This record gives sequence, C-alpha cells and structure tokens, in this order.
Amino acid sequence: MTSLPSSIDVAIIGAGAAGIAAGRRLRAAGVSTLVIEARARLGGRAHTLATPRGPIDLGCEWLHSADRNPLVGLAQRLGFALETSQPNWSAHAGRGFSESDQAAYRAASRDFWDSLQKAHDEGMADRPAAAFLPQGGRWNPLIQTISTYYNGTELENVSIVDLGRYEDTGVNWRLPEGYGALIAAAGADLPVVFDCQVALVDHSGARVRLETAKGAVEAKAALVTVPTSMIGEERLKFRPALPEKVNAAQSLPLGLADKIFFEILGETDLPCDGHAFGALDTIETISFDIRPRGLPLIGGFVGGEFARRLEHEGVVALEAEARRQFAAAFGSDVPSALRFVEATAWDRDPFARGAYSHALPGKADERATLAAPVDGRIYFAGEACSRQSFSTAHGAWATGIVAAEAYLKSV
Ligand SMILES: Cc1cc2nc3c(=O)[nH]c(=O)nc-3n(C[C@H](O)[C@H](O)[C@H](O)COP(=O)(O)OP(=O)(O)OC[C@H]3O[C@@H](n4cnc5c(N)ncnc54)[C@H](O)[C@@H]3O)c2cc1C
Repeated sequence: MTSLPSSIDVAIIGAGAAGIAAGRRLRAAGVSTLVIEARARLGGRAHTLATPRGPIDLGCEWLHSADRNPLVGLAQRLGFALETSQPNWSAHAGRGFSESDQAAYRAASRDFWDSLQKAHDEGMADRPAAAFLPQGGRWNPLIQTISTYYNGTELENVSIVDLGRYEDTGVNWRLPEGYGALIAAAGADLPVVFDCQVALVDHSGARVRLETAKGAVEAKAALVTVPTSMIGEERLKFRPALPEKVNAAQSLPLGLADKIFFEILGETDLPCDGHAFGALDTIETISFDIRPRGLPLIGGFVGGEFARRLEHEGVVALEAEARRQFAAAFGSDVPSALRFVEATAWDRDPFARGAYSHALPGKADERATLAAPVDGRIYFAGEACSRQSFSTAHGAWATGIVAAEAYLKSV
C-alpha cells in the first residue's frame, strides 16, 4: 500500500510480531485495519537476512518455550520447517575451560538462578538481581555475561520480581528459514503502509488522528506496538500527553544485544557444531555459535554495556574483538579462516534503539501499566507488555492478540 486511506477502524502502529498478530486477529474478525510501519519491511526486531551461505537471523532466532510457543503452530501452518535439536549454551567447545570448571560454573549459575527464583516465589521485596551474586564468586563475571545476553543488561539493572515472573520451559527450537522470515510471512497479506513513521497519536477529538510521514489518518482506535524506547524517548507522542505511558516505558528500557556473523572458509578443525565463550573471567565476553543449523557460519552474540561500547566504536571494533576472542577460544590461526558477513547495531537502529525490554528494580508492574488501554480506543502491545514472556517474539505476538481482542470486546 503506497498511500493512506482517509479513515479506518483500527490503525496499528508497527509491523513487528505484535502488530502483525493484532492485524491478523482483527482481519479475521472483519475489522478494517491499516498497519503503519516506519521501516521498509515487515518484522521489526524479527529480521532474517539472506546470505550466500543461508538465512541468518539478525534479531529473534530461537523459539523459546517451543513446546508451548504459539508461533510453532503458526510455523507449521505456513509450511516452515522446525529445527528441534537443543542448544547447549553453557557448554564450551573451545580451549581453556576444563570439564570440571564447566561443571563448577553450571553449579554456580544454577545456585544463582535458584536463589533468585526462590526469593521471588517467597514474595521478597523487589531489588536488583545482582544482590544474589555471591560476594567474590569466581563465576560472577560469566553469570553477569549471561544476564547481558538474557536481559540485554547487567544484573544491577534488573528487577527480581520481573525475572521471577518470566516463564520459560527451557525448550528452544529454531527455524531453518529464519524467525524473521516467519513473522514477515505471517504479515504478508495485511494492509501495510511502509516508510511511514507515526509522530503523533492525537486522541483529543471524537476520532483518533495519527500524524504520519505520509499524512494524517483517522481511526476509531489506535493499537500501538512500538518498542518502549519510542514512547520513553517521546519519539512517538500523544495528544493529550500520556505521562503514565512515558513513565512506564522509561521503567522498561531496552537492553542491548548485537550479533556478528562470519563465514567459515575452507577446512578447519572447528567442531561440527556447538557453543563457546570468547572469555571466561570478564563480563566483556562474546558467545559463539559454531555452524548454526549446520551452516558454514559462526554467529557471535554480545550484550549489555560491552555491546553498546563496541557498537558505538563501529563494526570494525566489533569484528576485531570477535576475531580476538575467537582466537583465544580456538587458536590464533583460526580467525584467518573467517570472512565477515554481517553485524547488527540495534542500539543505533532508529526504530528499535535497543534489543529487548527489562524492568528496572521496583518497576515490574509497569508492564501492566504500559499494556492498559486508554479510553477504550488506544491499545498497547509489544514484547514489553507481556508479564511472563517479555523480551520475546512469542510474547510480543500474544500481546498483539490480547490487544486486538480487547478492542473487539469494546465494540
Ligand atoms: C539481537 C536480538 C536477538 C533476539 N533473540 C530473540 C530470540 O532468540 N527469541 C525471541 O523470542 N526473541 C528474541 N529477540 C526479541 C524479539 O525479536 C522481540 O522481542 C520481538 O521481535 C519484538 O516484537 P514487537 O512487535 O514487540 O516489536 P518490534 O519488532 O520492534 O515491532 C515494532 C515495529 O514498530 C515500528 N516502529 C517504531 N516506531 C515507529 C513509529 N513511530 N511509527 C511507525 N512504526 C514504528 C518498528 O519499525 C517495528 O517494525 C531478540 C531481539 C534482538 C534484537
């Protein structure tokens, strides 16, 4: 769709997982909708890139809680294959991490997460998750590193109440054609206008009026699915202002995770598949996925402040650091067998400004505040609105359906 219709029932802002789920649900109920997307593509933080060596996921990649993830059924209905072999993210296929040390790390990590969950289950008042790190614990840097992957930020910035509410069955699957490709396929026949950033949601009149890069559009209701960064930094504004939404979004900031991909050239001694850490005694650690889905690739994953620094130093810095850490894990001759393919910069991405949300300590209930509809005509969805599956694509998807159904109930 190249131009805007003058009037519709529901304007959905954002064509990521949440917006697409909402669009499909409303279309199934016969509601006239328009999805308004700032980018030139579907999927938002779900984005599969085709490379000569196969598809790579720049954003979401894993169907977490795959045994009850609603997107598994969708993938099957849309004819997407599933890869059901389990990752082993705590194992290290490289050098310098003995079996006994790996076992000690896994035990320390388990103790940490168990104590945190226990505190939450016993109703302990909220506090930063870092409070549960044992003082001077040998494996603290690696546990912190995992937080930068899991939460996109260090444990000091993470609410234990929010983490305690997160539900994960521990079953993780992948899509050989890409998670981003699945989300895009799910939205392929929705009415979407691209390259159309929404600047203002004006709800002062009888109808909601959206000011966009391609003009104004009026609707009975708006369904807002943009990342919290957009609301918290007031890149998307409301008239009258919605300070409780701005405050909620600021309480649920996006952490950062970035990826870097290399192609493996020729023969190497690298393991057939597996996982390795680029360092063990520092939070500045890159996680390496070796030959993901059997492809001749290395996928590097980096999070938190380390990712922010590398991203802002530029892709050359990220590539150099990844090669350095890869050499530490596998030997100095191996990086010469790697060709750079792609790196992400989610913090600099103007329509994401980060990777996924975490609740600041004391702010877990802000997810419900963010998700609450306003006046029965402005609805909110997106991963940050999910109480138990925040930060994930399936969580975003589920909130899109909840918001669409709330609208349907109101009419
Ligand atoms: C590196 C990385 C790895 C990840 N790994 C996983 C994983 O393995 N598994 C998993 O489940 N999740 C993962 N995630 C998280 C997952 O991708 C997101 O939680 C999910 O895709 C968010 O969907 P959403 O619809 O809430 O938001 P988005 O996908 O961000 O969609 C919002 C849309 O709104 C658009 N937009 C923004 N501002 C405006 C505006 N003003 N006007 C119009 N449009 C606007 C954006 O362009 C975007 O398309 C990962 C994310 C990243 C970045």
